[in-house]
Amino acid sequence: MLEVHDLTVRFGGITALDGVGFTVAQGEMVGLIGPNGAGKTTLFNCLTRRYDADAGSVAYEGRNLLAAPPHAITRLGIARTFQNLGLFSRMSVRDNVLVGAHTHGRAGFWSAALWLPVLRGEEAGLRRAADEVLERLGLTAVADHPAAGLPFGTLKRVELARALAARPRLLLLDEPVNGLNQAEVAEFAATLRAIRADLDLTVIVVEHHMGFVMGTCDRVVCLDFGRKIAEGPPEEVQRDPAVIEAYLGTP
Ligand code: ATP
Repeated sequence: MLEVHDLTVRFGGITALDGVGFTVAQGEMVGLIGPNGAGKTTLFNCLTRRYDADAGSVAYEGRNLLAAPPHAITRLGIARTFQNLGLFSRMSVRDNVLVGAHTHGRAGFWSAALWLPVLRGEEAGLRRAADEVLERLGLTAVADHPAAGLPFGTLKRVELARALAARPRLLLLDEPVNGLNQAEVAEFAATLRAIRADLDLTVIVVEHHMGFVMGTCDRVVCLDFGRKIAEGPPEEVQRDPAVIEAYLGTP
């Protein structure tokens, strides 16, 4: 589904990604680990076209992803969540999720007047889709609640719900369990496993919580100073001396 080849991104004198390459197969869940500043979020920003690459290529479902404009990313079936939640705090949970659902619709691409009747019909469909996602993630009880004031663990699920409402084929999760307690981490992992199976989702997850990575990912890629230092099954990468030296440390 995704072939990243020799990807390089520089910011002035800093090389945030230095010739990174890996592939992700349809339906796979890949964990992206590494110390702070290793280039993980930069990779997501590159895949979602927020940042341009200085060198390398990315093929997504056979297309040259780096030639796609940023606004086309959701339409191509790629959605992401953010390390610092990007929710609209005064809007209800449902409206936040509807924002995700709308990015999949026609709105914004055509004259509103021309499409108004279609959009009205679509709006009902989008609300149904949003409500389905809310139910799936156990958020129905807080659907009409403003995002502000909800517990952090709930907001993390709303962030996931919004990304899922865009009906992605490739989901990019940026530190989805950061700040959650152990029970919430276990619940998030279980939800994600079930959703992946149901929706045939392909997932790349950036996460420092190794228990979560070990329990959910099929494969792990480790970055350090913008370079890939290891790749393989989670148990193998966890034992890799280079990964222990650069990131995990000795227990
Ligand atoms: P963390 O685990 O802390 O989120 P990360 O692995 O996601 O770290 P990145 O945020 O991708 O790391 O940062 C990689 C390097 O690129 C860092 O040195 C960072 O300071 C730099 N960097 C990232 N974005 C920018 C930017 N917009 N402008 C300048 N430098 C940047």
